[in-house]
Amino acid sequence: MVTSLMILTLNAGSSSLKFSVFDLSAGEDEVANGLVERIGSAEGRATLEIGDETQRVDFQGDHSDAVELIGKFLRKHELLNKVNAVGHRVVHGGEAFQQPTVISAEVEKTINRLSPLAPLHNPVNLQGIQLAKQTLPDVPHVAVFDTAFHSTMAAQAFRYPVPQAWYSEHGVRKYGFHGTSHAYVSTVASEVLAKAPRGARGSTGSGAKRNHQRIITLHLGNGCSAAAILNGACIDTTMGLTPLEGLMMGTRSGDVDPGLASYMHSLGMSVADYDRALNKASGLLGIAGENDMRALLEMRAKGSEAAQLAIAMFVYRLRKTIGAFAAAMDGVDAIVFTAGIGENAAELRAEVCEGLGFLGIKVSMEKNAVRSSEARIIGSGSCQVLVVPTNEELEIARATIGVIE
Ligand code: ADP
Repeated sequence: MVTSLMILTLNAGSSSLKFSVFDLSAGEDEVANGLVERIGSAEGRATLEIGDETQRVDFQGDHSDAVELIGKFLRKHELLNKVNAVGHRVVHGGEAFQQPTVISAEVEKTINRLSPLAPLHNPVNLQGIQLAKQTLPDVPHVAVFDTAFHSTMAAQAFRYPVPQAWYSEHGVRKYGFHGTSHAYVSTVASEVLAKAPRGARGSTGSGAKRNHQRIITLHLGNGCSAAAILNGACIDTTMGLTPLEGLMMGTRSGDVDPGLASYMHSLGMSVADYDRALNKASGLLGIAGENDMRALLEMRAKGSEAAQLAIAMFVYRLRKTIGAFAAAMDGVDAIVFTAGIGENAAELRAEVCEGLGFLGIKVSMEKNAVRSSEARIIGSGSCQVLVVPTNEELEIARATIGVIE
């Protein structure tokens, strides 16, 4: 008889709480999921799904009420008592956590100690852990860190060329984020490529010539980051000490001249205002007054020059990063698009790939246009191009089981 192996995943954000329940005993079935959003506001809402049933309810309360609501829902459907372990998304693991880790009192202390590196995330992640432990005190709770996948980077990639003491005394280095997404989509991409007919595998298929695999993953959502992955291990990524570095994003600038801070300061801008501007009023929003890619593509189609420029900058910076990561790995065998923009904006994928023919990157217009929730190959050149829907919850569940089994 197959016994159930239920993993509850929790992703606590500053105003949201997302959960999923996976049964990993036979396959990887997601048996329930939901989201409590706008926690703390008068317009709070909760969506709770199980089987074909979807409940949408107004929600007023704090994170503790949200955990209680989810607990009640799972109890009602007789799932709560079947949960074998809880996997928690934790944004920053610093250098202390390079693997998913069972949460002890000591681990909680360390997550708290790392809060200055992720002030918007770690404290609320920790609160989620503490609340869930009250609801489910008798099962293991595991922290799965966004930064952990990038812990394989070498010092030449993760150190910044700044005074050594900044690193040794204050932990100033590149950590990288979106790790669960990069891990998940690169694993799926490798599986898809291994199963594909020879001609469709790109240069990874010619095993005699190459016995390694060089993948560039592009997580393009509201936040955007890329990772260079060699034989399954991350060797570089675009986000850094904070999730502000790297690619142009919805409201975040990504890379700018480090001298910009002192220039704006010389004009009278405070550090807090500068930080807010680069995080919340820059990127696509800063250039075109709109951060939603779907809306921007429509604006561009109607002739908006600002939208045209914002998208051109987004694409140009992405192409340069792909080139840089190809150089870092002595070539590239596959690039993988994921997250809201990467999974859905076919037009944009084609534009990114257009200037990359020199790397063997070419998309098949026909395959690129297909809408699907399945992982798929859309390339027609020697370097493969894939679209892989991300599933951070499943990756957290897999990581959790890997620690407790
Ligand atoms: P988050 O980082 O908040 O998880 P998502 O991964 O959901 O974000 O990505 C949100 C982005 O995806 C938005 O810019 C949105 O406009 C874009 N997006 C979603 N669907 C489409 C689509 N069909 N075409 C273009 N962009 C899309």
